[in-house]
Amino acid sequence: MKSIEIFFVGRANAGKSTLIKELFGCKARAGRRPGITKMPIRYQLEGLAVTDFPGLGFRRDLKGFESLVGETIEYKVKDLDHQIVGVHVIDAVSFLNVLQRHSVPLDIDIFEYLLDLDIDPIVAVNKVDKLKRLEESMNAIVSRLGMLPPYKQWTDRVVPVSAKKGSVAALRRLIKQRVQGIVNASIGP
Ligand code: GDP
Repeated sequence: MKSIEIFFVGRANAGKSTLIKELFGCKARAGRRPGITKMPIRYQLEGLAVTDFPGLGFRRDLKGFESLVGETIEYKVKDLDHQIVGVHVIDAVSFLNVLQRHSVPLDIDIFEYLLDLDIDPIVAVNKVDKLKRLEESMNAIVSRLGMLPPYKQWTDRVVPVSAKKGSVAALRRLIKQRVQGIVNASIGP
């Protein structure tokens, strides 16, 4: 059976390590300044690997073999003994702030980069505890990612979470579904 790896990508400060800690109980990265750590961090859990890719801060980080994160992601995608469940963590507040400035959030590039690699990521829209209008904000985010609103059409792919408040049940369900799908495909009918 192929090994399964769940990996978390997103901008610095999106909440990846908080989310990983909430979902899996792994110890969060400590003593670092945001955006400085570029090394992927791998947690080995029972039968599962979980990787935190901390380094996507700039568009140039998405240039595959020119960057450590891009190189590692692309290497893993090409490894045929490996199956990946990708989780793209978005800071909802920062995404909406960038939109408000009529600029393009880097998350759009990250999402498209993952799709180009044939990774259909789960999109975890984090920090929703800070949103005043959840529905409207989620719809704006999915529509900028190229999905037709309402966002609730995309529950197999997009999920609002608050890592800090421990609201991660829907994301946990989605990850389990994806992992189960890989296991089922390996075992056959
Ligand atoms: P990473 O760089 O993506 O690993 O982000 P961290 O997990 O280190 O989180 C960055 C900051 O965002 C920290 O100050 C966290 O406490 C905060 N944070 C993470 N998740 C949430 C959330 O759901 N809501 C709020 N309000 N803050 C969050």
